[in-house]
Amino acid sequence: MEINDNLFFDAKHIWHPYSSVTNPSCIHEVVSAHGVRLTLKDGREIIDGMSSWWSTIHGYNHPRLNQAAKQQIDQMSHVMFGGLTHQPAVDLARKLVDMTIEPLQYVFFSDSGSISVEVAIKMAIQYWFAQGQTNKQRLLTIRNGYHGDTFGAMAVCDPVNGMHNMFEQVLPKHLFASAPICTHDDDWQDSDIAEFRQLIKQHHHEVAAVILEPLVQGAGGMRFYCPEYLRQVRQLCDQYDVLLILDEIATGFGRTGSLFAYEQADISPDILCIGKALTGGYMTLAATLCTEKITQGIGADGSGVLMHGPTFMANPLACRVACESIDLLLESNWQQQVKGIEQQLITELKPYQNNELVNNIRVKGAIGVVELHAPLDKQMDWLPAYIIDQGVWIRPFRNLIYIMPPYIIETDDLTTLTSAIGQVLQKLNLKYV
Ligand SMILES: *Cc1c(COP(=O)(O)O)cnc(C)c1O
Repeated sequence: MEINDNLFFDAKHIWHPYSSVTNPSCIHEVVSAHGVRLTLKDGREIIDGMSSWWSTIHGYNHPRLNQAAKQQIDQMSHVMFGGLTHQPAVDLARKLVDMTIEPLQYVFFSDSGSISVEVAIKMAIQYWFAQGQTNKQRLLTIRNGYHGDTFGAMAVCDPVNGMHNMFEQVLPKHLFASAPICTHDDDWQDSDIAEFRQLIKQHHHEVAAVILEPLVQGAGGMRFYCPEYLRQVRQLCDQYDVLLILDEIATGFGRTGSLFAYEQADISPDILCIGKALTGGYMTLAATLCTEKITQGIGADGSGVLMHGPTFMANPLACRVACESIDLLLESNWQQQVKGIEQQLITELKPYQNNELVNNIRVKGAIGVVELHAPLDKQMDWLPAYIIDQGVWIRPFRNLIYIMPPYIIETDDLTTLTSAIGQVLQKLNLKYV
């Protein structure tokens, strides 16, 4: 690989996600992106299988999103949200209230998914506090979860593989049930919820809320589980007077086949976190939605003040692009696109099930996962470059090779992605024999 000045400086001075600056990993420079393709500095074009971490659902450099951003820049890029409001925030909040389930009526804007989780946790604890229930401060969740990298969010990530175990001593101690196993309602077994039921029964006096990623656990292991589990959780939360926070930062905006994953379980959360695809991958923006019950509850002590207010709260530029991204999504035939991707992923990934290195192949909506028996950590000296040589952008982690492409991806390009995974498996087979 050619080392240009940028890569040289980057390796010496810049942190990347989850990586070291003393022992930097291989980095590539992107100069532009269009549709589903990233153009690298060396001129190569690669097909994006990651949607830049779930976000670029309409692909890169979309004319309508570009135009929305440009128009908003000429009007006002930013203004503080304390004491002021603006059209993009009002428009976006209206869209979010309309497109989510009816009880979700209030919107708190923030700048990233992790912060929307922090806000959700604050809302839940403050809800009980305002009613004199100061003992309800803990959270209950399931293992293999991922909710972000800030301290409040970290504390509800999987305590073992959550990437944060070195901070264990400074994190609040929450309650963890085993992650559900059942993947379809047809094979539902009551034992799946037994530990969760036991924990909520035993601890509900001190539990403010349950927090979960509905149906798909993302960065904590790319695991899928069945809607029945969510229905049971909702019912137990009602029974034991515990709030339910759903983290749809990864699953929101159609990725699992419904606009929001909770729709497939026919349940309604008390608090909902969204982010990632909210602006179609253009700007950093997230939101926490909640019900009247929550706002009334927080107001029960008289003030109703929620003590949170990021500097860039409801940034007009981000809100304007988010409005356009949502319009684009709702005007498109995203259901068919996601269904089409799902069908194709099933057809093209399932044959790899026969590969002896493969433990499990799973597909849900526009998400395809190849889970290997062994972790790939030791292959990281050659694997990333090898993947790019196949003309694709895929970033395996642990024992997982997975893709969640932009919804606009065409059949041939998706085949290039799935074939690249096949090439990787073949290459691994050679390595292991
Ligand atoms: C990515 C993610 C987050 C964190 O969002 P950031 O924008 O990276 O802070 C939280 N929860 C889930 C489910 C996510 O996928």
